[in-house]
Amino acid sequence: MADIQLHSIAKRFGDVEVIPNLDLTMPHGKFTVLLGPSGCGKSTLLRMIAGLETPTEGEVRVGGRVVNDVPPADRGCALVFQNYALYPHKTVRHNLAFPLRMAKVPAAEQEQRVTEIAKVLELTPLLDRYPRQLSGGQRQRVAMGRAMIRRPEVFLYDEPLSNLDLELRVRLRLEIARTQRALGSTAVYVTHDQTEAMTLADQIVVLRKGRIEQVGAPLELYRRPANLFVAGFIGTPR
Ligand code: ADP
Ligand code: MG
Repeated sequence: MADIQLHSIAKRFGDVEVIPNLDLTMPHGKFTVLLGPSGCGKSTLLRMIAGLETPTEGEVRVGGRVVNDVPPADRGCALVFQNYALYPHKTVRHNLAFPLRMAKVPAAEQEQRVTEIAKVLELTPLLDRYPRQLSGGQRQRVAMGRAMIRRPEVFLYDEPLSNLDLELRVRLRLEIARTQRALGSTAVYVTHDQTEAMTLADQIVVLRKGRIEQVGAPLELYRRPANLFVAGFIGTPR
């Protein structure tokens, strides 16, 4: 079980209070989207789950374990960001295998897992290319593959598609949905894009100024928004 729980989380940067006091559960095996306008604290929340920021107050639990003092690498979370950093001098194959090599996984198993993940993400024909020979979308898929290859229990996505053009965004969105369902892992996905939220989420958390406005399934929020902010945010056609 790798549910994620935030208990009475507060975050201040100096005297700026970004998250006043927040409680939230992101269920095991479900896709939770944190949705809200720019600056509302989405990335800060995700970074606290990942261990890249420390909460000023409160507890972060992954699978029931308090992880406040656990370093990022030991939290069982994989991160996918918009600024995918691949190793420029390594081929796709070696970029994918890199986390396994670091974890001292035997070579034969590395090879097998690279083959498997390449198939899932349709990267097989690109395995011997270098990052500079890839399009933005292909690079993003390699970055996703590199996150997936260690089979983490939790995936944390921070607006991974926001730099891509619309067609690619739609394709990769489906890719993410499909892969997450196949893996059955817990996912937390940060976005300001309501279409992305509506298509990907089992559960949407609408945030505004570091506070939760509403939590619910996409249709629930659409049909019964708790207030005008949620109605406006969810209902805005794009
Ligand atoms: P979002 O991801 O929803 O756009 P962020 O979590 O990045 O929002 O930021 C929330 C607020 O916290 C913003 O006002 C931002 O300026 C502030 N903030 C984020 N990180 C820092 C930091 N390291 N130092 C100071 N302020 C920060
Ligand atoms: Mg952000």
